[in-house]
Amino acid sequence: MSVTAAPALLDRDGLNALVSALVAQGRTVIGPTVRDGAIVLAELDSADALPFGWGVELDAGRYRLVRREDGAAFAHSAGPQSWKNFLHPARERLWSAERTPEGDVSFTPQEPAVPSYAFLGVRPCDLRAIAIQGRVLTGGRHADGGYAGRRERALIVAVECTEPGAACFCVSTGGGPAVDPGYDLALTEVDGRFLVRVGSDEGAALLEQVPHRGAGPDVEESARAAVDSARERMGRALPPVDLRALMGASLTAERWDDVAARCLTCGNCTMVCPTCFCTTTEEVTDLTGDHTERWQRWDSCFDLDFSYLHGGPVRSSPRSRYRQWLTHKLGTWHDQFGTSGCVGCGRCIAWCPAGIDITEEVAALDTERAARGTETD
Ligand code: SF4
Ligand code: SF4
Repeated sequence: MSVTAAPALLDRDGLNALVSALVAQGRTVIGPTVRDGAIVLAELDSADALPFGWGVELDAGRYRLVRREDGAAFAHSAGPQSWKNFLHPARERLWSAERTPEGDVSFTPQEPAVPSYAFLGVRPCDLRAIAIQGRVLTGGRHADGGYAGRRERALIVAVECTEPGAACFCVSTGGGPAVDPGYDLALTEVDGRFLVRVGSDEGAALLEQVPHRGAGPDVEESARAAVDSARERMGRALPPVDLRALMGASLTAERWDDVAARCLTCGNCTMVCPTCFCTTTEEVTDLTGDHTERWQRWDSCFDLDFSYLHGGPVRSSPRSRYRQWLTHKLGTWHDQFGTSGCVGCGRCIAWCPAGIDITEEVAALDTERAARGTETD
């Protein structure tokens, strides 16, 4: 990579031209848009479909769209979906099989769908989540070829956060509203315009196709100030302790009973989490029994079947299932993948029907640990 392009400035027409250029490249452009009372990720054919003038009001178990007077396009925090819906789809056919008239069975493997995506509006937390899922799904000996192909072909236009949500806590997970490398282009929305930074040669070539002008130091300064302000206005935070050690020291904590009394074990938190990656497989057949298919679908450690072994689930209680989710996410994930499994996007807080707040649960575990006098760091 030999990126040298100076920061540029796009107006709304320039943003439209950017989407048009991506569509002209044959890419499926995915970005945020308003649908069904939420900001969802969907295919865009124009930047006009972005949620200009919409923000969100968030709390534990609560998500509401609200109007914004400033007309901003990206002043909303994470919605119910993440980019894993596209890179790691909820359902994928793996193979199909047919019984021939002679009674033989022929198998046909399914080639994975590898669209050429352009992701517009990837938050810094979600960019980190994509990197984490990539490490999980392609970093080992048995790489997921479909995921690898989709990620390889995807072009990423990230957006720095200037308006953190009330459920956001990326800063306390080591991230922040400023974007890390890994993008092709990065936008920062400032007063209805978009400061653009280039992160790859592909991004530089794309920017060349779009009408833009140079961004002066004043715009760069305003963008930095807006992102710095967002850093100071995080809605929540994890306690500043060694979370991996805290999880290890909390296996017999009483707090698991408290959370188990509220947790419905619905698995919503795992479905919305941008790093949760677990899948299971299932076979479906037609009524004749002559055609069958094997599908991979997302699974959740909150499902009883998830830990089913010869006669019963290993984790039959809600206590053990919530503990598994949290201690894996913040603890043993480090041992497996060299990183935490949480990027602080806040989705699991907003979309938990019981309003369970991961930051509150971790703080309670830390308080209980302190009362026991167990050191974590
Ligand atoms: S923590 Fe909330 S979202 Fe997760 S399984 Fe329990 S009730 Fe469902
Ligand atoms: S655990 Fe919750 S806050 Fe952390 S990445 Fe997953 S959904 Fe986001």
